[in-house]
Amino acid sequence: MTQSNPGGESDLVMRVGLLNLATSFRLSQALYVAARLGIADLLAGQPQSVEELAATTGAHVPSLARLLRTLVAFDILHETEPGLFALAPMGVYLQADHPRSVCDAVLLLVSEDVWRSWGELLWCVQTGESAMSHLCGVQNVFEYYAQHPELNAVMNAGFAANGRVRADAVVAAYDFSTSGTLVDVGGGRGQLIATILRAYPHLRGVLFDQLHVVESAGQLVESAGVADRLQIVAGDMFTEIPAGGDTYLLMNIIHDWDDAQSLAILKNCHRAMRPKTTLLLIEQMLPSAITPSVTTQSQTLADLNMLVRTGGQERTEEEFRVLLSAAEFDLVSVIPTQTAHSLIKGEWREDGPAESAR
Ligand code: SAH
Repeated sequence: MTQSNPGGESDLVMRVGLLNLATSFRLSQALYVAARLGIADLLAGQPQSVEELAATTGAHVPSLARLLRTLVAFDILHETEPGLFALAPMGVYLQADHPRSVCDAVLLLVSEDVWRSWGELLWCVQTGESAMSHLCGVQNVFEYYAQHPELNAVMNAGFAANGRVRADAVVAAYDFSTSGTLVDVGGGRGQLIATILRAYPHLRGVLFDQLHVVESAGQLVESAGVADRLQIVAGDMFTEIPAGGDTYLLMNIIHDWDDAQSLAILKNCHRAMRPKTTLLLIEQMLPSAITPSVTTQSQTLADLNMLVRTGGQERTEEEFRVLLSAAEFDLVSVIPTQTAHSLIKGEWREDGPAESAR
């Protein structure tokens, strides 16, 4: 038994395991620095020596060697012979121009303002406030991005890269063949809607987001070959959401906001929608009881990320049901995907709310 055998095998395994968890932030930074230096792109063609990599990236040779060695230990690079590095299978996805690259997602998820926000987790847990309001004096992270074009670019690219994985999972999990027009509310640069439109040539779509986000959506939409079926609309979802769709998608939107703000968005959806139309929320829905798993780790850490970054939260099915019901939607099903995200399907109910959304 662990307690009666201090220093015994399982006691040691647990203490070492705990310390490994406590120091996992180091790996985040190692991956971030590799992405910033473009190491995976430099190794795309052929293995390179640490001296060559250092010369191209302007890094300090022995220190870069230590970073590369760490990435070898985590199976992201291989050291094919002493001092010569190549991409391991996972490292391939760190290349910026790989079609399924996650490089921009790494650059966003470990970006400087995310890093600083997580440093305020204690403050957030003690006060219930987001770190962004504490550190940057803004109501929410989107206000901050709107004020900082360089971060806005990192965010848009990061969400597009991150969204690629989830978009493929949504297409695999849900049948859009009976839909006609999709409206992607807060759709970023259009990764999700472009992926669905490409899979269903009969569909039309509306990509709706803030102006400073959708104004750079053209290239992604063009390269997906769906520009002729996709209308891009800029606006504020707290004011008005475009009408005319039969399926409304909100991926990673409701989790950014508290209940009152979420309700305002959902009521605006209801107002834009008609009977027999469908609302699909794509969120990391929390199970009502947490047991340890890779999925619940992703979901609960995403929930803390919402606390730190936006003041929003991840929610359980029951919490979504209550929220949807208050906005005159019936939660009709929850459809899992191969990622930690689920599709939460709501149906428009008659007798929409009469009062104003905000
Ligand atoms: N659905 C995308 C992006 C999620 S990030 C994805 O899952 O990848 C949240 C999105 O909400 C951002 O693109 C942000 O610009 C958008 N957003 C935030 N406030 C908004 C508002 N008031 N009106 C419209 N979109 C908004």
